[in-house]
Amino acid sequence: MSRLLFWLALAVLVVMAVRSKLRGAGSGPAAPSRRAPPEPPAIETMTSCAHCGLYFPASEAVRADGLDYCSPAHVRLPAK
Ligand SMILES: [Zn+2]
Repeated sequence: MSRLLFWLALAVLVVMAVRSKLRGAGSGPAAPSRRAPPEPPAIETMTSCAHCGLYFPASEAVRADGLDYCSPAHVRLPAK
């Protein structure tokens, strides 16, 4: 009888372990709490416009002559 209880307890432990693993898999790296905040957005490199000095994400930059500009209009204007 105690053998049966042992296997029953083992089965319950295995089910609990699998459940907690499945729950953790959906929310990124093994977070200890279920209320972990969502991952912060990737930090993007910032650059400044060579004409007006405005800071903006480098991915939106208009590049000309090795300089970054905020818009195609400022490419045509002289750099400061
Ligand atoms: Zn500009």
